[in-house]
Amino acid sequence: MTSPLPISILGGGLAGLTLGIALRQRAVPVTVFEAGYYPRHRVCGEFICGRGIAVLQALGLDRKFTAAGAIEARRASFHSNRRSYAEKTLPRPALCLSRHVMDALLANEFRHLGGQLREGERVAPIEPGPGIVRATGRRLEAGQAKMKWIGLKAHARRVDLSPDLEMHFVPGGYVGLCRLDGGLTNVCGLFAVRGPLPRLAEEWPEFLRGPAGSVLHQRLGQAEFMSDSFCAVSGLDLRPATAVRTRECSVGDALTMIPPLTGNGMSMAFESAAWAVEPLAAYSHGALGWNEAQLGIARRCDRGFGRRLRCAALLQRMLMSRAPRSVLLHLAARVDWLWRAFFDKTR
Ligand SMILES: Cc1cc2nc3c(=O)[nH]c(=O)nc-3n(C[C@H](O)[C@H](O)[C@H](O)COP(=O)(O)OP(=O)(O)OC[C@H]3O[C@@H](n4cnc5c(N)ncnc54)[C@H](O)[C@@H]3O)c2cc1C
Repeated sequence: MTSPLPISILGGGLAGLTLGIALRQRAVPVTVFEAGYYPRHRVCGEFICGRGIAVLQALGLDRKFTAAGAIEARRASFHSNRRSYAEKTLPRPALCLSRHVMDALLANEFRHLGGQLREGERVAPIEPGPGIVRATGRRLEAGQAKMKWIGLKAHARRVDLSPDLEMHFVPGGYVGLCRLDGGLTNVCGLFAVRGPLPRLAEEWPEFLRGPAGSVLHQRLGQAEFMSDSFCAVSGLDLRPATAVRTRECSVGDALTMIPPLTGNGMSMAFESAAWAVEPLAAYSHGALGWNEAQLGIARRCDRGFGRRLRCAALLQRMLMSRAPRSVLLHLAARVDWLWRAFFDKTR
């Protein structure tokens, strides 16, 4: 019997590590190359929402997340600058866990299953080829766009959250607050910036606190930010991408990004990893050619993500403009089926 062909995964974030774990469960030799070291903070709202939770359950990871401090979120509220809307129950509970804990947990699990994890190895751009999976995360916008998306996150203490999640729309962006284990709140925002980038190293707390007089500013009035948890990313490319157009095998954000307000990006990382497992295992064991495996994964991802990416892009555009936002938030707060439809169509 010939030995199984190895798989190399570039990027040890959620998609890369989940794929690595699932492949190791099928005895596939896997190496993950990760530019950074664990544990580390990532810009993320830190709530998992959508079908990816079923992937975690199938891999036996949900119990490990809970043992590591993941908590369920059931209630959410929405605020637009100075105005608050009625609190809503999430149609399905979300799972909240710090990325500092989550990524390290997945890395340990991958190692425990016999995976090779090469931390501190940033892989140079390479030609896509047999056995190589790109899981390098968020795509950065090429060139000099007039408007740039920046993402910021920090953990804070002394935040009085009434539901488990709060979404605050402020001029030019939004900030999500998410209850975490140990009395912490994750504060994470996405902002559209025109012109030169602000001096984020000094100005980030002002961005995350929102304008004076806003509900967000009031909510974070007593907040103590933990500056060692601060991280930022800029120049995000949030335009939906189609997998079959590329010749490479990619999963997670490397494939396409969904607007963060849906809280569905982590779920998509888990889902795309799950869809890649069988074709990659079949390739490794000699039952499928590389091109068929790559194309099969791309088609499955496009089918699974197409509608939700389009709906999320439209929703984000509407929620970033004042008048459509107040109509949408007002309707979603009052009409339950509409709230459920927004939730389901973006997941
Ligand atoms: C502001 C903001 C808020 C968000 N909030 C949420 C939320 O609340 N809920 C949610 O579900 N999603 C959220 N997301 C999205 C979520 O963070 C991503 O979808 C998720 O992290 C994608 O996982 P990934 O594994 O594809 O990428 P990542 O987790 O980014 O991992 C990619 C990894 O690849 C490594 N890497 C990159 N380049 C190389 C290289 N050349 N060589 C080796 N390694 C490399 C990186 O170091 C990183 O570890 C948010 C995103 C943003 C920007």
